[in-house]
Amino acid sequence: MPGTAAPAQVTIYFIDVEGGQSTLIVTPDRHSFLIDTGWAGDGSGFSPGDQRAARDANRIVAAAHDAGVTRIDTLLITHFHPDHDGGVSELAQLMPIGVFVDHGAPDPGAGSNVPETAAAFAAYEKVRATGTRHLMPRPGARLPIAGIETTVVSSAGATLAQPLPGAGEINSSCPAQAPPPRDPYENPRSTGVLVAYGAFRFLDVGDLSGAPLYALGCPRDLIGAVDVYLVAHHGGPDVADPATFAAFRPRVAVMNNGVSKGGARVTYQALHRVPGLQDVWQLHRSAAAGDANFPDAYVANLDESRAYWIKLTARRDGSFRIENPRTGAWHDYGARDLKARSRGSLSPIPDRAPANPG
Ligand SMILES: [Zn+2]
Repeated sequence: MPGTAAPAQVTIYFIDVEGGQSTLIVTPDRHSFLIDTGWAGDGSGFSPGDQRAARDANRIVAAAHDAGVTRIDTLLITHFHPDHDGGVSELAQLMPIGVFVDHGAPDPGAGSNVPETAAAFAAYEKVRATGTRHLMPRPGARLPIAGIETTVVSSAGATLAQPLPGAGEINSSCPAQAPPPRDPYENPRSTGVLVAYGAFRFLDVGDLSGAPLYALGCPRDLIGAVDVYLVAHHGGPDVADPATFAAFRPRVAVMNNGVSKGGARVTYQALHRVPGLQDVWQLHRSAAAGDANFPDAYVANLDESRAYWIKLTARRDGSFRIENPRTGAWHDYGARDLKARSRGSLSPIPDRAPANPG
């Protein structure tokens, strides 16, 4: 709640945009950092319309209001696909946007795979021109956001040249080469960020897949252990490589899949076997994943009748809470023993059911 007595914490909303991405990060002094804007209009293709009726832009505004913010200070567009940049025109009608961060322009081949790319980018460019600044940071750069440390780990196909402090161990579970990406044009160009607040670390790489995702974890881990990993590319089948999870060593994974978009069964199966992974939270139950879905208590939306977000609050000591507003339940995760951040056994462990939240 806004007010002087509120404890210092960072809040992250994983907003349900039906298989696109929109993640809102609000700092203790209520700077707002939005990563992607979901889809335009009613969520089909790219068809922006009346902002008052725009599905995803209004869901973003609802999350912002829940956090007590009335503007987006910094917007990162991870890459130029309409499930990520589609909602920006309508959002800009509802809420001012200050700084724009991206990797410039779509790959020239992007339209051959996603036909709406050019129209969505043209609309985005118009909105971007109204911002206070436009940044195109390279991997290793820090974004100018007060209260959190935001490090760019990938952009326009490039990745960190050196390990972040504390990272750099050899990852013995790497395959000989990167699994091929489903989309070879824009997804591998995603701008990914590591957001740190004290000891708390959150990794969001957009739809990074193929060689750049592999490069962050193989042959050496360049990121180090994170508390929370937003599984790349909505948990599609091209991000299921166990070597990635072995490199990032998340305590919690979040899946921004829709009912039928992302959320591949093979990725859920891989997550069930990640050593040290305590829980997986899903924005939607995945139709394709079947019995590999995690328990309903960890799922924000069992169908498309409502749109619940997943809300995370993190403290400087690295402890955090994740809430499921659909059920009213939450789970608290304590500060991690720093010694536990070092790599343990990389051999798979058997499937096990997560504990109940709350
Ligand atoms: Zn996407």
